[in-house]
Amino acid sequence: MPTRHKQVEVAVAMPVFGTYTYQVPPALEGLVEAGKRVLVPFGSRRITGYVLGDDSRDTADNLKPVDDVIDDDTPLFPAEMIPFFRWIADYYIHPIGEVISDALPGGINPSEYAVFSPTARGRRALEENTLDTAEKKVLARLTEKACRWAALCKNTGEDIPRSLLEKMRRQGLIEKQHQLKRQTVRTKTERCAALADTSADESGLSEPKAKIIQHLRTNGQSPVAALKKIVPTAAAHVRDLAKKEIVCIVEQEVYRDPFGDPVTPDTPPRLTAEQQRVVREAAEAVTSGFRTYLLAGVTGSGKTEVYMHIAAHALEHNRTALVLVPEIALISEIERRFRARFGARVAVLHSGLSAGERFDQWMRIARGEAPVVIGARSAVFAPLTQPGVIIVDEEHDTSYKQEGRLHYNARDMAVVRAKLANGAVVLGSATPSVQSVYNVAAGKFRELNLTRRIHRQAMPEVAVVDLRQHKGLKGARRFITPPLEEEIRATLGRNEQVLLFLNRRGFASYPVCAQCGEALKCRHCDITLTLHKKANIYKCHMCGYFRAAVSKCDTCGSASIKQLGTGTEKLEDAVATLFPEARVARMDKDTINRKGALLKILKDLREQKIDILVGTQMVAKGHDFPNITLVGIICADLSLSFPDFRAGEMTFQVLAQVAGRAGRGTAPGKVVLQTYSPDHFAIRAARIQDFMSFYNQEIKFRKALQYPPFARMTQLKISGRDKTKARQQAEDLGRLCQQIQNSGDPNLKQVQVLGPIESPVTRIAGRYRWQILLKAPEAGAVRKMLNLLRTQNPSAFPGREIHTAIDVDPFFM
Ligand code: ADP
Ligand code: ZN
Ligand code: ZN
Repeated sequence: MPTRHKQVEVAVAMPVFGTYTYQVPPALEGLVEAGKRVLVPFGSRRITGYVLGDDSRDTADNLKPVDDVIDDDTPLFPAEMIPFFRWIADYYIHPIGEVISDALPGGINPSEYAVFSPTARGRRALEENTLDTAEKKVLARLTEKACRWAALCKNTGEDIPRSLLEKMRRQGLIEKQHQLKRQTVRTKTERCAALADTSADESGLSEPKAKIIQHLRTNGQSPVAALKKIVPTAAAHVRDLAKKEIVCIVEQEVYRDPFGDPVTPDTPPRLTAEQQRVVREAAEAVTSGFRTYLLAGVTGSGKTEVYMHIAAHALEHNRTALVLVPEIALISEIERRFRARFGARVAVLHSGLSAGERFDQWMRIARGEAPVVIGARSAVFAPLTQPGVIIVDEEHDTSYKQEGRLHYNARDMAVVRAKLANGAVVLGSATPSVQSVYNVAAGKFRELNLTRRIHRQAMPEVAVVDLRQHKGLKGARRFITPPLEEEIRATLGRNEQVLLFLNRRGFASYPVCAQCGEALKCRHCDITLTLHKKANIYKCHMCGYFRAAVSKCDTCGSASIKQLGTGTEKLEDAVATLFPEARVARMDKDTINRKGALLKILKDLREQKIDILVGTQMVAKGHDFPNITLVGIICADLSLSFPDFRAGEMTFQVLAQVAGRAGRGTAPGKVVLQTYSPDHFAIRAARIQDFMSFYNQEIKFRKALQYPPFARMTQLKISGRDKTKARQQAEDLGRLCQQIQNSGDPNLKQVQVLGPIESPVTRIAGRYRWQILLKAPEAGAVRKMLNLLRTQNPSAFPGREIHTAIDVDPFFM
């Protein structure tokens, strides 16, 4: 009877649904474990897979074996995360191998695998003949040519147990290197000299060498860089000593440090009574089980302090803490405060890190060295074990929605992850999302409130300017109406700072030919180009295409192009015209393309080297500018016209957030809000900063139109370079949806199929776009239809020439 090998379930990093069973050859037993990457044969290829655990599904005897294990000691993610990955794959209808490969930090490359080569000690041992036969064979072979385990077995003509290689590696006879094929990320190493076993006779040594030995005697080992401080020419001496085998040089792994300046540790302040209540309640769920809290509190009400206390509570109970922040621009501030409190226990994960830094941070977390993680949306995948609390700051922020290969919402997944880990979730915001407030009303979330600002500043006073009454204004005053201009002058006169907000970047978003009336459009997308005057280019905000601005009309060749539409650049010009003596800076995607640029603006603001800051919604978030006492909202209505049922919600949120920037210091704040629709309920509510009055109207409208949270939606996004084929595919899928809907299953009957229709922007980056919207009272029905759709037309998902993305809980921007 053949002996049964251990079998494992493996997810492959390929666009295939389902997982596969492989057998583990005896040599790899003990090395293969859940959370590690393996190399497996797949068709005619050999690809990366992720071990999900033992598998008893398939009883066939001819299962293919796992070829090799990529990860040595620490799995890349803890086994407890596997149910989380399965949940995501199921909910977002996405191949699980791709879910995992998307979750891992860039720089961990699927085509990476290990090559073995002999060490100096190994070579010596071979010469001195101190090895047993099997070891000798391996080393002899590797001395000729470093190679992979599989190649080694092939070359020697026999199965070499993988455990033997691991044993030899631990003995220092051979070393293992991960070869990276496409992208090189090697953990940074530091060269250290260590005193070799031989007792060194110092008498015959030169003075510098003796000094080095002396230092090594006291410290055991020392980085070469540190030795250079004692003996400037230490590097050469150490090499010399190593040759004589008096010292040895070892390479030691060091983490790349993504943190800038060191921070001084702080001591937690005494919490206010309100904060204490909130911490006590949320801390309870850290120990007693999953619960979601919505923490509503205006900026400055002490939410961050509350987060730190709950995180500390989790650590006290041997659990970990994860903090999600919507944008990397906001991370530096919160990161400093957490590092001041938690020191080296903090890791960060965000796209501002280099691939190497991200890899190192990931490994620190996976090895359990950093139980507090701060990061942007993808940090929801941080390889923490046992998260006791997951905090989502600014939970209403739309940047938690990811639209990559896998479409997901990090806020919603944070809740799921905490549920699976049996921990607490704290969703914090000054302007909570309608969805979350509804969940409170429905009894799913529990509400916590911080009602007062810590430093007891009053909320700013808001004056509304009705733009309809200022229609005749020309030039700069079209942006800055006389009432706003007056307020700016008064503020500058008191040496205080002004923030002007306009939710669109560039100079003019609608360049149009004065001769023939044609608008200038992107070559690849169906939208107009935006003039960026400083850079002197027309730029497409969809695909990044740009061209020189000195061009003529594409249609008639005329050179008279009118720059209609507005943007922060035009506003900046207007400010310069009206206030030539003021120091003006602009904060938007164009000026903040580097991490340093943002920090510089923030620093200049704090040091009052800037009088007027012009910016997009980027200025609305989180930053604390104590001397800004006036906020001017140039046109409150811009986002009301977005083709999304959330347009009102987003408008309310951004206005309330921007207004919240005024008067955070000791001086009282003022807001001037210019609008064409002062009577719109979102604008009225923002004006009095009354979330509930906004919510109560908004929720009625959502209910009447059956929008979320009263329905669940999924959008199919079909796109392709061939116009006809894209349309064909959209129509085919639409028909299939109708068929499934009418198949007699009452559950499927309640799914509404809307479309296919052309997307609002019909072409982006050369791809023609169509969409189908599926809507039902509950998510299960929509998912059922999608799964049927996928199995009945498998080649459409994701498809090759024509691509179909499944966007569950879509945002329509
Ligand atoms: P939010 O995150 O809601 O904007 P913060 O936690 O940043 O609020 O608090 C606002 C300011 O008040 C910060 O400067 C913070 O250090 C300070 N602060 C918060 N809680 C306390 C407290 N209990 N005692 C003293 N200062 C506090
Ligand atoms: Zn023209
Ligand atoms: Zn474009």
